[in-house]
Amino acid sequence: MQVAVLGAGTMGHGIAQVSAMAGHSVTIRDIEQDLVDEGISSIESNLQGGVERDKVSGDEKAATLSRISGTTDLAEAVSDADLVVEAVPEDVDLKKQTFEEVEAAAPEDAVIASNTSSLPVTEIVSALDDPGRGIGLHFFNPVHIMELVEIVVGEQTDDETVEFVTEFVEDANKTAIEVRDTAGFASSRLGVALGVEAMRMVEEGVASPRDIDQSMELGYNHPMGPIELGDVVGLDVRLDILEHLREELGERFRPPQILRRKVRAGKLGKKTGEGFYVWEDGEIVATSGDWGDDE
Ligand code: NAD
Repeated sequence: MQVAVLGAGTMGHGIAQVSAMAGHSVTIRDIEQDLVDEGISSIESNLQGGVERDKVSGDEKAATLSRISGTTDLAEAVSDADLVVEAVPEDVDLKKQTFEEVEAAAPEDAVIASNTSSLPVTEIVSALDDPGRGIGLHFFNPVHIMELVEIVVGEQTDDETVEFVTEFVEDANKTAIEVRDTAGFASSRLGVALGVEAMRMVEEGVASPRDIDQSMELGYNHPMGPIELGDVVGLDVRLDILEHLREELGERFRPPQILRRKVRAGKLGKKTGEGFYVWEDGEIVATSGDWGDDE
């Protein structure tokens, strides 16, 4: 199969890598050659990491790279594609415009997918004259490691399109779940629901951030507790998602005051050195505030 990936950033290069590892020919497109080259060299270093950890053979690495080419020309990238996956920035107008441009240049029966993590797929695919072939394909970061892909079925998406991408996901050794196009899909809606309740518990003084996180890590086998995960994702990002989910789904997603205060104070989590925890060199060194359980 011929796959075109639009956007060579964090997600695009990963999607290109797993597609090529599944045996497909892949063309990756970004707006500047440097960005295309950076994407391809990230794939090379992921594969090299795999070789060093004995997860990928030298031959597999070489074969995967030989199946990937890059371009800045959209029409060239999609002209013989069976599947196009866009991973351009999260902007609904840019995504709709991209879908329109792809439809004009790709074969009539190509499936066109969006890797959006939060935008309405139904709106994006409505940019197509034939919206039945549009769908959401939500990969997780880092793509070459994370097993889940959410298939987001728009209001107009055809059954054959769902079947086609389900097979593609399975070929890429990932597990697909099928979700109707609703705010937060399945993963963000549930993940954020847990995170927001955990923040409310901190606010109410139920337990410290560390104890709340341990309740999920040790009691439910989550690899990371919900408060720490919020710090890793970024509290500003969490706040934006909550605002969006509140608008679409109601007051149960109302952002707690403690989150608003942290964001106003620039305490955005790991990336700024403090959120619910204090971070140094990417590691938690203390709990923010007076919890008496510094690490
Ligand atoms: P990114 O900023 O790392 O990469 C986006 C790339 O798209 C950039 O290299 C940019 O130059 C390029 N680009 C811009 N306009 C383009 C165009 N018209 N054609 C081709 N390329 C273009 O962003 P990202 O984190 O890879 O996110 C991409 C998409 O994936 C977004 O919709 C995002 O919501 C979604 N997503 C991101 C994550 C994540 O953790 N980063 C997880 C799941 C889904």
